[in-house]
Amino acid sequence: MPLSLDETDISILNSILEDGRKSFRQVSRDTGITTPTVKARYERLVNVGFIKGVLPVFDFEKIESDVREEKNFIQLEILKENVRRRKNINKSNQNSTLKEEIQEIRKKISNGLAINIICDYCDGPVFGKPKILKFANIERFFCCTSCKSGYSQKYRGRIESIKKRYEGKSELDE
Ligand SMILES: [Zn+2]
Repeated sequence: MPLSLDETDISILNSILEDGRKSFRQVSRDTGITTPTVKARYERLVNVGFIKGVLPVFDFEKIESDVREEKNFIQLEILKENVRRRKNINKSNQNSTLKEEIQEIRKKISNGLAINIICDYCDGPVFGKPKILKFANIERFFCCTSCKSGYSQKYRGRIESIKKRYEGKSELDE
């Protein structure tokens, strides 16, 4: 069963479309959804692989056109190439402005949109409600309980160290 986006997810996504660096608290203020819910929904959208990253938007017009020093020029070209590559991942029109791009995304993300979930252990499709393993701020999704326990056993060491690191970090945050 794919994960369906509901109104809450859509509001959160629309809010971070304006500025991907907003804090969970700020998204909460914008949307009226509580901060823990914003955090949980955001993390789930990351965990299912729908939010792939939060990236800066550059304005290359602002770069002095007479950058003739070769080193600067090469670095600028590398930066541009990386942006082009990112745009290809998003499959959006290269010539579209940021505003148009955001409108396109707004159109695509809508209530009831379903995200396919693939089992994190056997890579098979997940039919029905996924079995979820949660540790730190990470969630893994499985087609059945035996895939879930297979995964937990296989990655026990890694999961434990992620948990420990996360707990240490949350203490620092407080
Ligand atoms: Zn499986």
